Amino acid sequence: MEKIDQTYQTEKLGDFVQTADWKKEKHVPVIECPTKVKAGELIEVKLSIGKEIAHPNTTEHFIAWINLFFKPAGEKYVYNIGHFDFNAHGASVDGPNTSTIFTHHAVSTFFKTNKSGTLFAVSHCNIHGLWQSSKELTIQ
Ligand code: FE
Repeated sequence: MEKIDQTYQTEKLGDFVQTADWKKEKHVPVIECPTKVKAGELIEVKLSIGKEIAHPNTTEHFIAWINLFFKPAGEKYVYNIGHFDFNAHGASVDGPNTSTIFTHHAVSTFFKTNKSGTLFAVSHCNIHGLWQSSKELTIQ
């Protein structure tokens, strides 16, 4: 049997998730949705990066994906609403930044809930790592 050389580590991935004010830091996801909604009503959530300070979108430097979670108030676990990949960053057979095709790092999605809680967005820059932000949602 293969010997697996992995021991329990206390370091968490979350230790490397950075955060800041999205108005001052270009990597932080911006979450746009109503603050108060009715139970069971579809909620549109717009996610974007660099609303105030633009983030580059080149073959060498881009936002790879954004992930949206919802944590109901008082509950232990988070729910994953969706994962959104941004896959075109200018590469073609002619080389980096030659295709003229670039996926913009913004997306709109919908979900519903009967519970108030917190939305968390996590984005990944291919060279500057993980960034998160959050927004409270109240169900009336
Ligand atoms: Fe970056």
